[in-house]
Amino acid sequence: MGQREIAERMVEVWKRLASAEFDLLCCAAELDDPHEIALLLRIPLGRARRLQEQAAALDRLPVLAGLMRDGLLDLDRFEVVRKLTENLDSAKARRVDARLVGAAELNSKELTVEVGRLVCLVDPLGEESRHVKAVRRSEVRYVSKPDGMAELTAYLDAVQARSIFDQINADAGTLDDDRSWGEKQADVFVDRMLGSGRPVTVRTDVTVSVQTLLGLTADPGYIAGVGYVDANLAREIAGQGDWRKVLTDEVGMPIGVGRKRYRPPKALRDFVMVRDRVCQAPGCLRPVAECQIDHARGFASGGETDERNLGPFCDVHHCLKTIGRYRFTRGADGIQRWITPLGFEYKARARAIAEPGPP
Ligand SMILES: [Zn+2]
Repeated sequence: MGQREIAERMVEVWKRLASAEFDLLCCAAELDDPHEIALLLRIPLGRARRLQEQAAALDRLPVLAGLMRDGLLDLDRFEVVRKLTENLDSAKARRVDARLVGAAELNSKELTVEVGRLVCLVDPLGEESRHVKAVRRSEVRYVSKPDGMAELTAYLDAVQARSIFDQINADAGTLDDDRSWGEKQADVFVDRMLGSGRPVTVRTDVTVSVQTLLGLTADPGYIAGVGYVDANLAREIAGQGDWRKVLTDEVGMPIGVGRKRYRPPKALRDFVMVRDRVCQAPGCLRPVAECQIDHARGFASGGETDERNLGPFCDVHHCLKTIGRYRFTRGADGIQRWITPLGFEYKARARAIAEPGPP
C-alpha cells in the first residue's frame, strides 16, 4: 500500500472512530449508574461521569452531535465545545451550536477560539454569572505518576492562578544554579506551600516486607495515596520513623473474634488495613486511611468479625454496598467478588506486598 492509500485509510479509520464514539455516548445516555459504566469499560469513575455529561450534551449541541454521528467530528473536539458552553443555558448553547456547521474543518485550538468568540456573542452580559458557576467547580487534584512522581493540578480563578504562576516564576528567576527551569519552578512551589527547609509533617504510611526492610529482597513498598515505590525509597521512608507498621502475609496474622463482637480489635483492623491498603471495590484506589473497615457480609446478617469478612471501603463504595444495590463477598480462596445491580461480577484479589518466593 502506498503512502497515499495509507493516508486515505487513516482518515476512514478516524471517521469510524468518531462515529463509534457517538454510538458510545448514545449508550451512556441510556445507562443511569456511572459505577456500572466505570466497571464495564475499565475506566475511572470520573471518566464515566464525564461520558454521561458528554451524552447529556448531545441534546444541547445537536449540530455537533450530527457531525460526530457522521464521523466528521471526534469526541475530543466535541468535548472542547461542551466545556466552553457548559455555563450557558440550553437556548444559548443551541445558538452557539447552530453557528458551528463548519466545526469539522477546525482543529481543537481553532475551535476553542471560535467558540470563545461565539459565547461572548450570544451571552454578552453573562460573563459574571458564568464565572460564578465556574468558580463553584474550583478544585485541586492529585494524580500519581510513575517513578515516584505525581501531578498536582489546580482549577482556579484565572487572576489568582496567574498571580500564583507569576510569583513562582519570579521566585525561580532569583535562583542562580544549573538546575532546569522546571526543577526550579517545582522547588519554589514546594517551598511556598510547605515552608522552606521545614520538615514535612504529613504522616506517611508505608507498607514494606520485612525481607525488603532487612535488605534481603528488593520488593517494592506501597505508600498510601501514592502507590508502589522502589525498595530503596520504601526503606528510606520506613527509616524516618513516621511509619506505622511492617507486616506481610507471613507475619503474625491476628485471630478473628467471630460473632462475639461487631467492632474489630485494633490488631485486626491494623492487619486488614495493611493487607488491603486501598478500598476493596474493583477499580477504586482510595487509600485505606480514607476508608472505613467494614463487614463484607453484614454483622446483622450473620457475618463474622474476622480477617476474611472485613475489608476497607471508601465512603462512595460503602454507601453503594450498604444500600444493597451492590454486593461484595470474599471467598475462602481470598478472591473477592463485587456484584453489580445489572448482575455483572468483578473479581479482585488482595494485592501482595512481598513477591512470592521461588517455587
Ligand atoms: Zn472505593
